[in-house]
Amino acid sequence: MRTFDTLVVGGGLVGSAIAYGVARRGGSVALIDEGDVAVRASRGNFALVWVHGKGDGMPRYATWTRRSADLWPDFAGALLDRTGIDVVYEKTGGIIFCFDDEEMAERRALLARLKANTEPPGYDYEMLDQGALAGMLPGLGPDLPGGSYCPHDGHCSSLHLLRALHAALLGLGGRYLPERRVTDIRARADSFTVITEQGEVQGGRLVLAAGHANAWLAPKVGLSVPVKPERGQVLVTERFEPMIPLPTSHVRQSHEGTIMIGVSNEDVEFDDRSTVQTMAQMADQARRIFPFLARARIVRAWGCLRIMPPDGFAIYDQSPDHPNAYTVSCHSGVTLAAVHAESLAGWICDGALPDEIACFSAARFARAEAA
Ligand SMILES: Cc1cc2nc3c(=O)[nH]c(=O)nc-3n(C[C@H](O)[C@H](O)[C@H](O)COP(=O)(O)OP(=O)(O)OC[C@H]3O[C@@H](n4cnc5c(N)ncnc54)[C@H](O)[C@@H]3O)c2cc1C
Repeated sequence: MRTFDTLVVGGGLVGSAIAYGVARRGGSVALIDEGDVAVRASRGNFALVWVHGKGDGMPRYATWTRRSADLWPDFAGALLDRTGIDVVYEKTGGIIFCFDDEEMAERRALLARLKANTEPPGYDYEMLDQGALAGMLPGLGPDLPGGSYCPHDGHCSSLHLLRALHAALLGLGGRYLPERRVTDIRARADSFTVITEQGEVQGGRLVLAAGHANAWLAPKVGLSVPVKPERGQVLVTERFEPMIPLPTSHVRQSHEGTIMIGVSNEDVEFDDRSTVQTMAQMADQARRIFPFLARARIVRAWGCLRIMPPDGFAIYDQSPDHPNAYTVSCHSGVTLAAVHAESLAGWICDGALPDEIACFSAARFARAEAA
């Protein structure tokens, strides 16, 4: 049996960001992961670092997301310094398109509401008509009424990010234990024994960040994580010269030149296949946005499952029964990687989640149901 100060279960973007953040503050850390057979969101996402439109219904989520976006430049720089891996983060601002006038009116109202409700440092955006958008995005199709622009948005390579987080953890003396599916947890007053198919690992502190598996692992330490899968499909084209200077809600050009087209939102349980109908819809929409894409060859396509809390906001909890046990779940693990590593990991090391993130406790779902 190996013993560590902190065990993090789940080596996706969420667990890796926290393990890296905890390791930076000292003590031994093990990151325990199921391995490549697992259902994983971290390898199939759109790689946006995105503030735009988030937080309606929970203003603190908008502030939290903005905080992460603001931390991203230093976070990416520190990973580069430590590991030599460039996560190719660019803070360019981002666009969400509107496809008709009704959508324009709804977006205008949503962003005004977010701006009015968000705590400092606030929420900046602009509504843009087709002409203004075309000035920012050469090649834009003529028949979109417009969209919104948010300067806090950006994008990165989420695969580089995952690699950099793992490398940074190892560089700090942390251990990565892959191919170890956790099947059970024994919680004692001052320690946790995590049971895997390859043996047991013991730790004084436990962070559950196992994506969908948090739903059945969390009750073992007295917590609840009611997440559900939501499928998103992505198409990837052949490489182009730089054509799309900033990321958008539906299309973005990667640093390698490929153009990613996304992403659907489908309630299909744990079915992560691609479907012809959805791919065709996404391709049609992309062609309407950028007509030059009609000539693009698709080279890859996949479906991937988001880890979706019922209201779409993050879930952060500390167990009342076992105060050294925490759960972390969210559906924006790229965007929130910086705040997870920089802020959340520090609070976990200090032994208490502060009041400012108490609103993210899963207790909100029980309260809503009771009400
Ligand atoms: C199509 C799509 C597009 C997206 N686009 C964006 C975006 O643009 N921006 C953004 O911020 N977010 C985006 N996301 C969301 C983002 O990808 C996720 O929030 C993030 O990857 C979640 O990371 P995670 O570590 O919680 O989960 P996962 O990546 O699923 O990782 C969970 C890990 O836990 C491990 N695990 C599972 N069960 C066990 C077990 N029993 N024992 C041990 N280990 C276990 C797995 O091996 C896995 O590595 C998108 C998601 C999808 C699906």
